[in-house]
Amino acid sequence: MSTSIKIDFNKPVIAGNELAYIRKAFENSHISGDGFFSKAAQKLLETQLDVPKVLLTTSCTHALEMAALLLDIEPGDEVLIPSFTFVSTANAFVLRGAKPVFIDSRPDTLNLDEKLLPQKISPRSRAVVPIHYAGVGCQMDAILPFAKQNNLSIVEDNAHGLFGKFQGQYLGTFGAMATQSFHETKNITCGEGGALLINDPQIIERAEVIREKGTNRSRFFRGMVDKYTWVDLGSSYLPSDILAAILLAQLEARLEIQKTRKQLWEYYDQHLQSWASKNQVQLPFVPEDCEQAYHMFYLILPSLDARQKLMEELRQEGIISVFNYLPLHLSKMGREYGGRKGDCPVAESISDRLLRLPFHNSLTHDLQDHVIKIIERFSP
Ligand SMILES: *Cc1c(COP(=O)(O)O)cnc(C)c1O
Repeated sequence: MSTSIKIDFNKPVIAGNELAYIRKAFENSHISGDGFFSKAAQKLLETQLDVPKVLLTTSCTHALEMAALLLDIEPGDEVLIPSFTFVSTANAFVLRGAKPVFIDSRPDTLNLDEKLLPQKISPRSRAVVPIHYAGVGCQMDAILPFAKQNNLSIVEDNAHGLFGKFQGQYLGTFGAMATQSFHETKNITCGEGGALLINDPQIIERAEVIREKGTNRSRFFRGMVDKYTWVDLGSSYLPSDILAAILLAQLEARLEIQKTRKQLWEYYDQHLQSWASKNQVQLPFVPEDCEQAYHMFYLILPSLDARQKLMEELRQEGIISVFNYLPLHLSKMGREYGGRKGDCPVAESISDRLLRLPFHNSLTHDLQDHVIKIIERFSP
């Protein structure tokens, strides 16, 4: 085979207006946070998702840190999180002294297994942080009433799920708060960036304070106080308006971006079905009541060995595929919180066997055909 073809795993999407908007941010003479583009991006998200308040942040990690501050998480509190997630989902709460309690995944969607929640709560449990893996919604119709009965707050880590829906409702609108990522590996990006979605109106004002170094600067700008001063804990979580300019350009192109991703996703899915079923390979499962956000396409191979072999064969043909999370309960930090092998058998197993295929908006069906051809000649 030709080795001249090179297919990247990810390439950040370019919508078209990014550079013009950056220029405009300079022309506005406002390139720090909360300028024209930040406000426009927040408004667009609030309107589209029907969320009372969206605050842009410097990352999803920082939005999660804000959520932990807003929930007044204290040392000794427990937070229920999936083991199969990105490290920030845990770290944001651990930074406040909380203990992460790891929940195993469902074998079908790879989302947190809601049936395991009752056996994991304790009097110290404060919050549950579902992540909508691959942009496919968690079982919110079970998680919501469970959280309510047990007085737990819900923070959705929606880094994968922007514009996805569960039972007709946008992901990110179920919990008291939700967090988005605009890192370059996500569907919509400004390089590094994020957002906190606030669905509980009672915490909006404090969120503005925490994001503005613990000051009441937002109230000052609204003319509600004469001077601004230090009123609470806080940090600096505002992105530059230059980043917001990039973000707005991409958010305005969201329908195009998502449409392309849908087509690419369905192409992999259709063309790999028969190979997958012949070879005991599991393809992504999307329940009927989920409209997914088309964040990734993955295979679950029958074994670690098969996964490694296929990854290597693809690499030799210039195709970069990657695996995803190592289960947090088995990480160095996770073990310090009591994680042991066997605690989350599904997460452990899928982590060994999952392979993410190249998936980004500059793929074409021709390039996908090349990937598919290499996969089809592989028998695990
Ligand atoms: C990407 C990602 C994050 C972190 O996003 P940043 O914007 O890089 O901080 C957090 N959680 C999940 C599930 C992610 O995929």
